[in-house]
Amino acid sequence: MPAERPAPTLRLRLDSDALVRNWRALDELSGSAKAGAAVKAQAYGIGTAMVVPVLRDTGCETFFVAHWNEVADVAEHVPGNQISVLHGPISAADAEYARATGALPVINSLHQAKLWLETGGGPCDLMVDTGINRLGLSMNEITDPLVSQLEVGTLMSHLASADEDSDLNPRQLARFVEVTGQIESERSSLANSAGIGLGPDYAFDVTRPGLSIYGGAQRRELVGLIEQVVFPQAAIVQLRDLKAGDSVGYNATYTADRGMQVGVVSIGYADGLLRSWSNGAAFEFEGQRLPLLGRVSMDMVVVDCSNALDISEGDWVDIPYDLPSASANTGLSQYELLTVLGRRFQRIVPD
Ligand SMILES: *Cc1c(COP(=O)(O)O)cnc(C)c1O
Repeated sequence: MPAERPAPTLRLRLDSDALVRNWRALDELSGSAKAGAAVKAQAYGIGTAMVVPVLRDTGCETFFVAHWNEVADVAEHVPGNQISVLHGPISAADAEYARATGALPVINSLHQAKLWLETGGGPCDLMVDTGINRLGLSMNEITDPLVSQLEVGTLMSHLASADEDSDLNPRQLARFVEVTGQIESERSSLANSAGIGLGPDYAFDVTRPGLSIYGGAQRRELVGLIEQVVFPQAAIVQLRDLKAGDSVGYNATYTADRGMQVGVVSIGYADGLLRSWSNGAAFEFEGQRLPLLGRVSMDMVVVDCSNALDISEGDWVDIPYDLPSASANTGLSQYELLTVLGRRFQRIVPD
């Protein structure tokens, strides 16, 4: 009989109560609009199977993924017609898959509208570009006769600079109001997480938060309201003693100026701890700081344990992952910090 697979030395503790409170706070802040949830990229790296049932049981009824390939994991937990696919149908096979699963294609171009109608039409969503110039029909295409043939459930657009106090926000809002007057739909939707912070004018009928459900806060209106959801931890594999003059890691970028105890921690860039963590960041053990020394390797990084003399091999250390401050410390965006977390983490939900 094969031996049981050992537990990983990396874990992501997920606070599902914080997830629930974040979604509820965003739903409340959406006013008369109802919050949905962006769950693309495995719920921003956290895991579809953990996130989607929790949000469903909290009352979320609209889920957004990017790829058709992501539908099946979400559809294990919610009806297909609660899933919208942001990239839209790129081939007839996508359109067929939409009909088989009930998932709604978000139509992004006249080409996609034609493809959807020619393969049989039916309910869909529609994205109009109001200034991000990424996906979506252009403003000058919305009067095209193909558009009036679509059965649009959610008419949407996406804000480019909702995390800033930019003039582009009111300009996109004004354009979207114009669009809602010209295209018939059951409901309309403009705001992502940061857009919810812009106030009730931006909420329309459905909001589409992603980042802030998972603990990210990019606007002052959200800071203090949104709680950390993801708590990464990694085990100490080895402790060793350095003498003054010893260097650490690839390319010897750190040299000890005194004797010190260091720990080798089981997390590296393959797990999403990118090299930008080397610039002055620190892990923690029982609240004591463990500054990172030298370069991050693929599977490990070395930390200074001078502040934690009672630490032992096998102990778990905390990787500080409050997203706004981790972003400030590493130069990575809050989105990157979540979505780079690798597959070697054991994702656990404590009772
Ligand atoms: C990813 C995405 C969202 C969610 O955005 P956040 O900034 O994570 O809240 C909303 N709408 C669209 C179209 C998206 O692609």
